[in-house]
Amino acid sequence: MVHETLLQAGVDPTTRRVMVLEAVARAEGAVSAPELLSVLSGNMNKVTLYRILDLLVEHGVLARHTGPERAAHYCLGRGHGHFHCTRCGRCICLRLADAHLERLAGPELAGLGRVDDVELRVEGVCRDCLAE
Ligand SMILES: [Zn+2]
Ligand SMILES: [Zn+2]
Repeated sequence: MVHETLLQAGVDPTTRRVMVLEAVARAEGAVSAPELLSVLSGNMNKVTLYRILDLLVEHGVLARHTGPERAAHYCLGRGHGHFHCTRCGRCICLRLADAHLERLAGPELAGLGRVDDVELRVEGVCRDCLAE
């Protein structure tokens, strides 16, 4: 499935690219590059990882957005929002339907032109942290 995603995006599915995409897909929510590095434990150096992440963002396979502490976070797909927990730093993807995003973008935007992407950032404390 990861192979097909890469091929459809016009990216050659090399072993390393597949490894990175699989790691992002397995993650619960959006992940930062340092988190990915520790998941890939020693199988990849930092420069290679950043190069692959850039390539996947460029081809629209991954979305990059600013997470907690201004660190770049990566997740699958685009045009969705995120919930950031200010206590544990977790970054959870909000799978909003296109209709929701259009409504959030507001009627004022409709007059400005076409909306291709919306970056929605919600900040708070996650359920796990609240339970502690
Ligand atoms: Zn939390
Ligand atoms: Zn996301």
